[in-house]
Amino acid sequence: MIKIDNIIDPKKCYEEIREIRWKDGVFCPRCGSYEIKKSGFNFQNKLKQHYKCKECQKKFDDLTGTPFSKHRLSAPKMLIFLYFLGLNLSNSQIAQELNLAKSTAQDIATSLRKSILNNKPKVKIKNEAEIDEVYVVAGHKGNSEAVKAKDRDPRVRRLKGARGRGTAENDKVPIVGVIQRNGSVVIEMFPNVQQKTIKPFITENIEKNTLIFTDEYNIYNRLEEWGYEHKTVCHSKGEYARDEDGDGFHEVHSNTIEGVWSLLRSWLRPHRGISQEHLPSYLAFFEFTHNVRKRGKKLLDSLLHVVLNG
Ligand SMILES: [Zn+2]
Repeated sequence: MIKIDNIIDPKKCYEEIREIRWKDGVFCPRCGSYEIKKSGFNFQNKLKQHYKCKECQKKFDDLTGTPFSKHRLSAPKMLIFLYFLGLNLSNSQIAQELNLAKSTAQDIATSLRKSILNNKPKVKIKNEAEIDEVYVVAGHKGNSEAVKAKDRDPRVRRLKGARGRGTAENDKVPIVGVIQRNGSVVIEMFPNVQQKTIKPFITENIEKNTLIFTDEYNIYNRLEEWGYEHKTVCHSKGEYARDEDGDGFHEVHSNTIEGVWSLLRSWLRPHRGISQEHLPSYLAFFEFTHNVRKRGKKLLDSLLHVVLNG
C-alpha cells in the first residue's frame, strides 16, 4: 500500500511507480517485449531509469506512455496531483495547492481523468439492478461563460430536471446510470434519452435476464423485449417502493440509483462550468471512485494502477 511519506520523497516515489508499473517485469511500451536492457538514468533527473528494447530498439523510461510523461512536473508532484483529484479538489484548487498555472493544472487534470475514462475496468451488471436517468447542466465547448452564468441559477442547478426535456443540445445533458444492487455502477452521458440511444448502453453493460427496476418512464418499456426481467415503481402515483412478493420487503424501487445521483451531485459541486466535452471523464472518475469504494491514499493506489498500467 502506498504511503504519503514515500510519494513526497522523489527517490521512493520512483520506486513506488516502478513497483506498480513493472510489477510483472519491465516491458517495452511500444512493442510489448520483455527483452529489454537498462540504459542508465535520465541526464536531468537521475532518478528516472532509462531502458532500451532489444526487440524494436526503442528507448523509454519509467513514465513513457503514461499521462505523467506529457507534463513537466516532478513525479512527487504528479502523484500528489492525482491524490488531490481523488480527494475531489477542483482544477483551480489543485493549481493553488501545487503552485501551478491554472491552465497547466487543467491540462494535467484532463489527461489524468481521460486516462481513468479510457482504462477503467469494465463492469458487467447482473442479478438485480436499477436504471435511472438524471440531467446535469454542461455547456458546449467554447461557451463556458454561458454555462457558469446558468450554473448560478438555482432553478437549473437542480440535478434532476423535467422529464424528457434534457438533451445535450440545450445544455441539460442526460446521464443514464445502472447499478447492481450491492454492486457496481455504470454511468454514461447521452445526447438524448430515447430507447434507441440507451439500448446499446443497456445491452452492453447488463447481463441478459437481470431483474431491472426502473420508474415508469417510457424509455424503459422495452427492457423485457431486450432480454431482461423488468419491474416498475410508479413515482407518479406517489409510490416509492412496493412489496410485490409479499415478504414484507419493499423490493420494487429505484432508491439505490437515486442515492448514486445524490452522491454524484455532491461530487460535481466543486467543479464549475464543466463542458460537455469534459463531462464524460468526470463521470468516469466518479464511477471508478464509487466502484473501488476506497478513499484517500487507498484510492490513490487504485488510481495509480489504472493510470500507470492503462
Ligand atoms: Zn520494443
